[in-house]
Amino acid sequence: MKTVYVDNNATTAIAPEVLEAMQPYFTSDYFNPSSMYALAQSSAEAIQDARRTIARCLGAGDPKQILFTGSATESNNSALFGTVQANPERRHVITTAVEHPSVFEVCKELQRRGLEVEFLPVNRQGELMMSDYVKILHSNTLLVSIMRANNETGVCYPVAEVARIAKETSPSIIVHTDATQAIGKLPVNLQGDLKHVDLLSFSGHKLHAPKGIGVLFVRHDTKWQPYLLGGHQERGLRAGTENVPYIVGLAKACELAVAGVDDEQTRVRSMRDRLQKELAERIPALEINGKDAERLPNTLNLAIHGIEGEAILFELSRHGVCASSGSACTSGSLDPSHVLKAMSVPFTAIHGSLRLSLSRYNDDEDIERIIETLPGIVANLRRLSPYWDDNRNRLNI
Ligand code: PMP
Repeated sequence: MKTVYVDNNATTAIAPEVLEAMQPYFTSDYFNPSSMYALAQSSAEAIQDARRTIARCLGAGDPKQILFTGSATESNNSALFGTVQANPERRHVITTAVEHPSVFEVCKELQRRGLEVEFLPVNRQGELMMSDYVKILHSNTLLVSIMRANNETGVCYPVAEVARIAKETSPSIIVHTDATQAIGKLPVNLQGDLKHVDLLSFSGHKLHAPKGIGVLFVRHDTKWQPYLLGGHQERGLRAGTENVPYIVGLAKACELAVAGVDDEQTRVRSMRDRLQKELAERIPALEINGKDAERLPNTLNLAIHGIEGEAILFELSRHGVCASSGSACTSGSLDPSHVLKAMSVPFTAIHGSLRLSLSRYNDDEDIERIIETLPGIVANLRRLSPYWDDNRNRLNI
């Protein structure tokens, strides 16, 4: 049975072109790019080429603004802690209630360290209210960190507008965005619509590059200081021997993603929309989290009342379908997703949430398998569920 992989917001398959581009840097060109001999120079040059490619893909201007890190988690930690360390005189931070834990938990830590951190709420669709933001923003705000798109629901956030308003309020307010789920799915232009963003994070494994490679874009003249010390790499801005093959792979993945951002994402969107429509017709009491919000084209987050997401995943897995409940990042914990809680998804559906996230490697056959299997799985589990009768009565079904 062919595996149907629809967990691409957790991680993606490495593209064959990416693997091919990386290969020489594992075998023949394995040198430390900091070494002095001529052979090492080709590794050093490969890093600079990759930096130029990624800068071009992001519309970032000067490639020196691209720093390679070990993950988006590191980039986010570095962006936030590095900003706070460099600006001890300012204490006010604005973020949202739906950030990835690598921003959310850092903000909680900043709060414990005495900073004034405000978490903007979202509505039932997962959207931010600009009026809430404008109300709390002030000229002495240090940092605004708002994700470009949510990993669980795919809901997109108006980062360009958030950044523009911040800079109008005070040019010294630093704006960060976690764009991990956006690169390759949405156009990104750091000299265009995102020209007021100072710091941007993402990682390779959401766009068909390997796990363990990330980028932090730091705009020139941003008052930020390095987070990892102990080496001269990345001009002293991120210590640690560079992961040359993964850096090369990330650049290739960015090129492929940006080249396909329109056509491929249109195809992905039409598969997602078909899935959404057909599942909604076949499964009673099904809600689509973030349905009316602007969403990533690949993401479908379902709230299935009356049953446990984990049980659905287990049954899907028996049919060769790999998906996720809530966020893969929080699986292993029984706590319901903080994102769905912030969206006020009812308790009976938070536990039955299911995320299907597609990529360019999915096809119509994959979509058909899910449409054929999921409604039956839900019906069977509901038959066994003590909560379902209760729910049915309450929901009037
Ligand atoms: N931010 C978002 C929005 C993510 O989806 C993820 C990955 N789940 C991360 C940050 C962390 O990325 P990494 O796995 O590269 O640390």
